[in-house]
Amino acid sequence: MNNAVPLVKSQSHLEPNNNIDTLLHTNAMVAVKQINNQTVEEHQDTYQTDIGLWKSVSKDVQEYFIRKESAGSQNITDNFESSKRVYDNPNQICYCSSALFTRIHPLTNEKSNRTWLCYSPTNGKIYCFICKLLSSTQTDLCQEFNDWKNANRAIEKHEKSLCHLAATLTYIKRSRLAGRFNIIHKGGQTNFWRSVLERVVDVIKLLAAKDLLF
Ligand SMILES: [Zn+2]
Repeated sequence: MNNAVPLVKSQSHLEPNNNIDTLLHTNAMVAVKQINNQTVEEHQDTYQTDIGLWKSVSKDVQEYFIRKESAGSQNITDNFESSKRVYDNPNQICYCSSALFTRIHPLTNEKSNRTWLCYSPTNGKIYCFICKLLSSTQTDLCQEFNDWKNANRAIEKHEKSLCHLAATLTYIKRSRLAGRFNIIHKGGQTNFWRSVLERVVDVIKLLAAKDLLF
């Protein structure tokens, strides 16, 4: 049983049919199959795309969102009104910004979408989609984050962190198993995955230089 908020509970009804164990039809919400001469219509569990509503992450939730990817949870075009944060100085009011979702390569100035970064319109906070799904390390961006004054620095630090890179490698591996091996070749995500691999290589070089590897 998953603990993310299900939108639709599983249910079924039975009708007579003569075939056995044949998957007939699937779509986003309904699967119809024939079992033991009966047609079974199952409404598949789906989960809230708003990452701020995920209470905990079960294996079912992991599998669902690894297949679904983060696009439906990023909310880059939101107006970010619910992210308003008033700091100690009442004149200092900050919001989340769509600019946070774009990474600019420090050497080439190439821009890429931070597909791992998601915004919750419900609570106005940001999360790392990959770490929220797959990491046991509880960093700010795995939990929730809304310190907009320091967001750029925190995001850059997070995407270079070992826990994020380890979770990303697990995500890639699980995506392959889920039949999404071609994600690396999707045009809009090529720069993102290349930057991930570059940072993995950087970390390996750093560890090797400090005799912490091999
Ligand atoms: Zn992360």
